[in-house]
Amino acid sequence: MILGIDIGGTTSKLGLVQDGKVIARARFATTGHADVHAFADALAREATQMIRAHHEASIQAIGIGAPNANQLTGIIEMAPNLPWKHDVPLARMMSDRMGVPATLGNDANAAALGEWRYGVGKGIDDLLVVTLGTGVGSGFIVNGKLVLGSAGNAGELGHTILIPGGRDCTCGRKGCLEAYVSIRGMIATYSEAGGAEQALDVKTIADRANTGDAAAKECFRRTTEWLAIGLANAVCATGPKAHRALRRYRAQR
Ligand SMILES: [Zn+2]
Repeated sequence: MILGIDIGGTTSKLGLVQDGKVIARARFATTGHADVHAFADALAREATQMIRAHHEASIQAIGIGAPNANQLTGIIEMAPNLPWKHDVPLARMMSDRMGVPATLGNDANAAALGEWRYGVGKGIDDLLVVTLGTGVGSGFIVNGKLVLGSAGNAGELGHTILIPGGRDCTCGRKGCLEAYVSIRGMIATYSEAGGAEQALDVKTIADRANTGDAAAKECFRRTTEWLAIGLANAVCATGPKAHRALRRYRAQR
């Protein structure tokens, strides 16, 4: 049995996994702890409780997905969306507290590994997984291996340049894909397209597009085009078996 932990900006999620199936789940507030050590203590308590509730079961290992996490070092590196603005060696901290090996990875890489082993990418050794939300995350499986690069930070589609000198990105550069096709990016695009009132989330823009709002429709048109450019570039670089994955995904829906 494995303990899986997903560290999010406001909520973290825990899951007990047996033979690739999640058999128990729990949610846990990421914010409101005195410091990262207090957070890790509370997280370990929550996990222990969940494990005990399952017939005195024990876990063999811990896998953690987090923003800005580096699998090669086990460190969350100054994640802008997390409460701790410094490096956090969370893999070692959780391993020390729970007494089993722990590994840590970028959340989009963890999503790619999950889809590859158990999800829509099962059996496909060349796969690209993109997560769209607050940011744009991505994980590349090439020749049956997760691409980490020499420093553990490869495969960041969201921070490839879409428009040179374009919008400011959270990474400090300008014109990244993430600055255009993330939630924040879509809200900015809606304004630029002449949206009458400011939209605070993407659902509002979608609702307005469905009722014929021209700026909202234009926002979706531009976003789709930008995302397509980003994905097409990624396909050129790595050659995933995209069509097969897409069909499988549709079949499952
Ligand atoms: Zn960027």
